[in-house]
Amino acid sequence: MHLRTQLFIFDADGTLRRTTVPGRPCPDTADQWQLMPLVAETLRSIPWEEAGYALGIASNQGGVALGYLTRDCAHQLLVDMVVSAIGYFPSRSYIELCTCSITANCDCRKPAPGMLLRILTRSGIPASRAIFVGDAEEDFEAAGRAGIRFRWAKDFFGWPGARCDCPIETIRTR
Ligand SMILES: [Mg+2]
Ligand SMILES: [Zn+2]
Repeated sequence: MHLRTQLFIFDADGTLRRTTVPGRPCPDTADQWQLMPLVAETLRSIPWEEAGYALGIASNQGGVALGYLTRDCAHQLLVDMVVSAIGYFPSRSYIELCTCSITANCDCRKPAPGMLLRILTRSGIPASRAIFVGDAEEDFEAAGRAGIRFRWAKDFFGWPGARCDCPIETIRTR
């Protein structure tokens, strides 16, 4: 049994959005991405404002260090993604992005837990009330190192081929 989830943290690329440019892991501009299937439907079923839920985004953005886009642009693309998915930007939203070089050995680039820990601190919500949803092994490992429960994006959103129950039911019963 878990305490009711109060903080939903998501990876961005491959979890909430996908890049429409072949071969690129992350978008560099506003016309290079789209939401993943069932993301809008699932996130809009959560009553963010009334129930006081908090939203976190933890995204590795190594392209910034490579000069593909600025940190501000990468941040804005994540804000736009949230607004596209939910229809507005929830008041308790916490975006963290690692713009360090892949070789910097920083404490924030997943699988390091730094971004997840910062979201916990900023939101004031304990790890026991949080969940991290991602699509990669680095997400799984970061959740473990932060002490946060993890769910694979395909299960959380109920993508075809996933073996999970209805994601909306899962959220309501937690
Ligand atoms: Mg990902
Ligand atoms: Zn970093």
